[in-house]
Amino acid sequence: MRAAVLRDGRIAFRDDVPDPAPGPGQVLVAVRSCGICGSDLHFAAHGAEVLSLTDQMSNGIGSGMTVDLGRDVFMGHEFSAEILEAGPGTDTYPAGTLVTSIPLLISGNSVEPIVYSNHTLGGYAERMLLSVPLLLRIPNGLDPRHAALTEPMAVGLHAVNKSGVQPGETALVLGCGPIGIAVVAALRARGVENVVAADFSPKRRELATTMGAHQALDPAQGSPFDTVTPAVVFEAVGVPGIIDDVMRRAGHGTRLVVVGVCMQSDTVHPFFAIAKEINVQFVLAYAVEEFADSLREIAEGGIDVTPIITGDVGLEEVGAAFDDLADPERHCKILVTP
Ligand SMILES: [Zn+2]
Repeated sequence: MRAAVLRDGRIAFRDDVPDPAPGPGQVLVAVRSCGICGSDLHFAAHGAEVLSLTDQMSNGIGSGMTVDLGRDVFMGHEFSAEILEAGPGTDTYPAGTLVTSIPLLISGNSVEPIVYSNHTLGGYAERMLLSVPLLLRIPNGLDPRHAALTEPMAVGLHAVNKSGVQPGETALVLGCGPIGIAVVAALRARGVENVVAADFSPKRRELATTMGAHQALDPAQGSPFDTVTPAVVFEAVGVPGIIDDVMRRAGHGTRLVVVGVCMQSDTVHPFFAIAKEINVQFVLAYAVEEFADSLREIAEGGIDVTPIITGDVGLEEVGAAFDDLADPERHCKILVTP
């Protein structure tokens, strides 16, 4: 079957990948749509660093994960799919049912993230395996392309849940890439009455407004903290220096939620945070229930993901799409349709 794989830091197209066979508790599915995630771009460019940091860490998600970058790597964790067949002795929805799932594959006693793997297929392939206990049925009538946004939108929902933000509080979202946009959408779905977004890119500011930000500020025109005094700040940029800058400028008692993934070392002055009793919460991914909530929000119209989708490509064009996503003026989320 066809698949797009990571090979030597570039995306390569293959038409000779063997079909996976579902084991007990698994289903073989046909991928209907898979979003390209910023973390996939990052892994393609800096996979060795990601693996080395993961290696240094104990007790975190992915610790113990082994990926050989000298071999093809399968990726794609933001998918919707159609059930083809179940593994031996496995009861599930009938063939043809549209589903999504958190990106984990259960095989016997082991659970593997569907994120970067030499052997477990992800959504950049015609077909892949999913785990029956984790399947969520896509509600009737929801476009499977939209259902593929369940995963990235769940990241925003989780960050907002962790923040404990209340409707009457002002929230500032720094960075309006896909993660920042997911946070903006979740804040609006939560009923937060003053959502302020900031990004250097005019296109991204426009998208933030479309997705519900009440104001979208250009940091080139001055610090967002000159305009607003947020109770909660979401850092969705993920480059060194941002956290320190927030601590320097934010008000007393600010809650800072770090959802942007910065892979470099970063320096902060604890003094700023101490003097203002700033509360810092780092967040990652989502809980199973939040994933289901995300799908429900999208299906019931609480979050309209249409404006986020800025491109559709086939498996042959995934490499070009990875290059295109580098330009914030052109794209937010590109979907792959195998
Ligand atoms: Zn992702």
